[in-house]
Amino acid sequence: MWGFSNAALPGPLPSYFILSITAAMATDASAKVIDGKSVAKQIREEIAAEVSRMKDEIGVVPGLAVILVGDRKDSATYVRNKKKACESVGINSFEVHLPEDSSEQEVLNAISGFNDDPSVHGILVQLPLPSHMKEQNILNAVTIEKDVDGFHPLNIGRLAMRGREPLFVPCTPKGCIELLHRYGVEIKGKRAVVIGRSNIVGMPAALLLQREDATVSIVHSRTKNPEEITRQADIIISAVGQPNMVRGSWIKPGAVIIDVGINPVEDATSPRGYRLVGDICYEEACKIASAITPVPGGVGPMTIAMLLSNTLSAAKRAYNLQ
Ligand code: NDP
Repeated sequence: MWGFSNAALPGPLPSYFILSITAAMATDASAKVIDGKSVAKQIREEIAAEVSRMKDEIGVVPGLAVILVGDRKDSATYVRNKKKACESVGINSFEVHLPEDSSEQEVLNAISGFNDDPSVHGILVQLPLPSHMKEQNILNAVTIEKDVDGFHPLNIGRLAMRGREPLFVPCTPKGCIELLHRYGVEIKGKRAVVIGRSNIVGMPAALLLQREDATVSIVHSRTKNPEEITRQADIIISAVGQPNMVRGSWIKPGAVIIDVGINPVEDATSPRGYRLVGDICYEEACKIASAITPVPGGVGPMTIAMLLSNTLSAAKRAYNLQ
């Protein structure tokens, strides 16, 4: 077991850490709860202070532009949440909402307008796009200086190369690593397993862990013996989209678990008729792991906090502000 003595943390215990210990003791489990909600709140407060400093020092307010295409309800909710989060820290938000049957060129025109607009420092195209559009063409059109989602191939390529620095790192995997850092979890030299290899979560999460000197294995849908491989991990990041796939028997005692999965499962006792669970069987895992993120309230809030952080960095970089 390793990782969670006071000595592992720099300085006094932050309030979110104390909160998380209390939450863990309230259940019958041994694992600490990695409380993404309160860490994200703290990060948003730090960002709000920086946004206000930037305004005072150089009179510039960071701006995030969101392009939404079509009428998917989930995408509209994500965009609304992102706009609200911007407002809460003083970042300006801009939105273009195009109809489902728009042409690729119309989306490219919207991106081009924001690329040229000096009041916009970050551009985000809400995915998924309608099936008649080529995601690759659209994401490639965002200038890398404003690619706050970190999905441009140049940013991903730099992330993969030794000695190169991406301008931005994708928000969800960046949030996973930030949680490990803020909870004092040592990554260097540890064995890490990432379950899932998507462009937006699994693959960049594995690259980030490798950059932090972990020894990384990637488990995907064609992996043989995923349980055996996962059981070797000191750190597990799971981004699959299969409810409760990772059982207690997959987990090495004392492992630290970051559960990215968000999966609705039927629940007649919930007013909505469903509840959200992760990829990890929480009830089993929390008896074996040393620390674990809950779903909801783990990685989810961190994703938006990292988007705000990337937008602030973009604006600071544009004005050479430290
Ligand atoms: P994708 O569907 O793009 O990728 C899923 C990955 O899981 C693939 O690499 C796939 O393998 C792998 N996989 C599927 N089934 C298995 C299996 N049985 N065993 C091992 N690996 C498997 O999903 P995303 O990466 O976009 O999202 C993953 C989850 O994370 C979802 O639940 C999503 O809702 C959630 N999510 C949460 C976010 C947050 O902010 N908390 C943000 C983004 C996503 P293969 O490549 O072989 O097909």
